[in-house]
Amino acid sequence: MPSIFSKIVSGEIPCYKVAENDAFLAFLDINPLVPGHTLVIPKKEVDYIFDLDTPTYHGLFAFAKDLAPNLKEAFGSKRIGITVIGLEVPHAHVHLIPINSMKDMDFGRPKMNPTSQDLQAWLQKING
Ligand code: 5GP
Repeated sequence: MPSIFSKIVSGEIPCYKVAENDAFLAFLDINPLVPGHTLVIPKKEVDYIFDLDTPTYHGLFAFAKDLAPNLKEAFGSKRIGITVIGLEVPHAHVHLIPINSMKDMDFGRPKMNPTSQDLQAWLQKING
């Protein structure tokens, strides 16, 4: 059974797409910690990030690196935080989070429940 993220890759489930190439996809988290919270995934489905083959692992972080300046600019944040958790969705992914303080990366606090208009507006900020 494909992961929810593989269903996003195949187009079976829609997403708010930030960027894509042959091997990687970035899209907005639907329950973000802060506006602009973005997930970056390899299209290839592997559960645990440290089980990725090394080129894919490096490629994932390089793809994330390329997105960070634009995200930072779009949300006017101090930094883009990066983290890997992976306890919820069994498909390797990196969280990119516009942050102004430590609490912006606190996964223990309640997540946002944005409307599709909110998500569309954030995407517009990122992609212009
Ligand atoms: P983790 O596996 O790193 O603990 O968390 C998975 C993340 O994926 C969560 O932040 C959650 O909000 C997000 N997420 C789960 N299902 C979907 C989905 O169908 N679409 C999108 N865009 N994000 C999702």
